[in-house]
Amino acid sequence: VTDIVDAATRRRMMQGIRSRDTKPELLVRRGLHANGFRYVLGGRGLPGRPDLVFPSREVVIFIHGCFWHRHPGCRFAYIPSTRTAFWLTKFEQNAQRDHRQQQELRQMGWRAISVWECELRANSDAVIKKLSQILARSGKVRSRCRH
Ligand SMILES: [Zn+2]
Repeated sequence: VTDIVDAATRRRMMQGIRSRDTKPELLVRRGLHANGFRYVLGGRGLPGRPDLVFPSREVVIFIHGCFWHRHPGCRFAYIPSTRTAFWLTKFEQNAQRDHRQQQELRQMGWRAISVWECELRANSDAVIKKLSQILARSGKVRSRCRH
């Protein structure tokens, strides 16, 4: 999994959080489409059902909710004060499943990128720019020594 912003950027993003009506996934789809990237929706039967699939670039993008997917250090990834044991178990299961699915994707030759909802809400332009850079570098051209 590639985390696309550094700690300092994340801090700025967290401070600048504001809510928007637009769904995070739509922001990503719209932005990448405007930059000329074409994708498939719905996961194509891939592990974890990625939100966006770029078949020719062998890249998949997950748009992760911070709470369910436990965004590290994120204020939205809080632990509820009631039924705490239940939640901790649930989070642990989610984390294990995420990890397993990422591994499966990697073994299938996909590069999985995770985008966090709070980052999108804070600064979707920066996220889309970064994603575009990654996608532009991920072409069909395989390196010769890749087995
Ligand atoms: Zn977050």
